Amino acid sequence: MSEEPPSTEYEVIVVGGGPAGMTAALYSTRLGHRTAVVSRGGGRAAMMQEVHNLLGVREETSGAEFLGIGREQLEEYGCDFYQDLVSSCSREEEGLIRLSGNNDDYDTEIVILATGFNDVRPEPPLPRTGRGLHYCLHCDAHMFVDKSVYVMGHSESAAHVAGIMLNFTDEVDLLTRGDDPEWSDETAGMLERHPIDVVHEDVTGVQNGDDGWLKALEFEDGTVREYRGGFAMYGAEYNNGLARELGCEINDDGTIEVGDHGQTSVEGVYAVGDCTPGHNQLPVGMGQGAKAGIDVHFRLRDFPRDSDILDEQGPVRSAEVPGIPDELLEQAVDFHTYD
Ligand SMILES: Cc1cc2nc3c(=O)[nH]c(=O)nc-3n(C[C@H](O)[C@H](O)[C@H](O)COP(=O)(O)OP(=O)(O)OC[C@H]3O[C@@H](n4cnc5c(N)ncnc54)[C@H](O)[C@@H]3O)c2cc1C
Repeated sequence: MSEEPPSTEYEVIVVGGGPAGMTAALYSTRLGHRTAVVSRGGGRAAMMQEVHNLLGVREETSGAEFLGIGREQLEEYGCDFYQDLVSSCSREEEGLIRLSGNNDDYDTEIVILATGFNDVRPEPPLPRTGRGLHYCLHCDAHMFVDKSVYVMGHSESAAHVAGIMLNFTDEVDLLTRGDDPEWSDETAGMLERHPIDVVHEDVTGVQNGDDGWLKALEFEDGTVREYRGGFAMYGAEYNNGLARELGCEINDDGTIEVGDHGQTSVEGVYAVGDCTPGHNQLPVGMGQGAKAGIDVHFRLRDFPRDSDILDEQGPVRSAEVPGIPDELLEQAVDFHTYD
């Protein structure tokens, strides 16, 4: 009699329970593969006070609520969920990938990395995140139309974002906070020829309104400038440690190199969402998750069998179908049994 596989052995494990990873897991589970999500929780989606740019989801939905509903949906379809930090990983002799978490070890045929990145935060004092301090231009520029806005940073991309904000408002300050600008001469010329105030004094204080939103920033020369909000542009720390351990190709900026369907340079390893190149947006990450989940199904599904296997093993017996594991089959039948 064959031994039962350990309960933490899966066909597919997604590391990271943000929108990109959970979408990949949704497809993999509903397409009949034993799937788990291992996530420490938090992440960029969890920081959203309101969800923007996601058709069908109301703006007043918070990131926590959005992720909570996603997790419930996954569990209803039979995906397992572990709250754990995967701290290392390795390829086992049998070809499986072992993920070592703080609480347990997990073995899988396919791993999908959806580990995201952390925004580098500016030095204190800070406005309150989400009510005056923002990180995502495509998400939040719309809320600053015709308002006074700052962009904080001294990099090429900070200067670029200050220029972009002129599409939304005529009051844009670029705050270097005493750091030496790293932008090129050409970019300096761009700044000079656009109505952008470059302020070099450091920020020494923050004034918030009664609604909790930023009202003004105080500067070390004693001046006070009113702002509705702005963007911090200090870069990203990509969570690519597991990808590096598995030998995946990493781009110069720290993103994980992927193909059209999220395949990395290493067999059986996919990456989706903010840890890969592209626009860091919910619909984009979720689309990448969907593509990876479908691609994984193409690789793992049993039927129809290739003709060389049929030639070798003979025709498929009816006892061998359907190809879905028993527990997922039961869960699917229950799910679609309406009283
Ligand atoms: C404040 C803010 C507001 C935003 N608002 C919007 C918006 O309105 N609309 C929009 O389209 N986009 C918005 N974005 C962008 C959006 O949140 C991201 O593009 C999206 O969350 C990316 O999803 P993801 O699954 O790739 O990563 P994340 O959402 O960052 O999820 C990654 C997950 O992986 C986990 N993880 C990482 N490493 C490990 C590990 N080793 N082991 C276990 N778990 C691990 C993390 O803890 C986290 O739970 C916003 C971003 C921020 C910061």
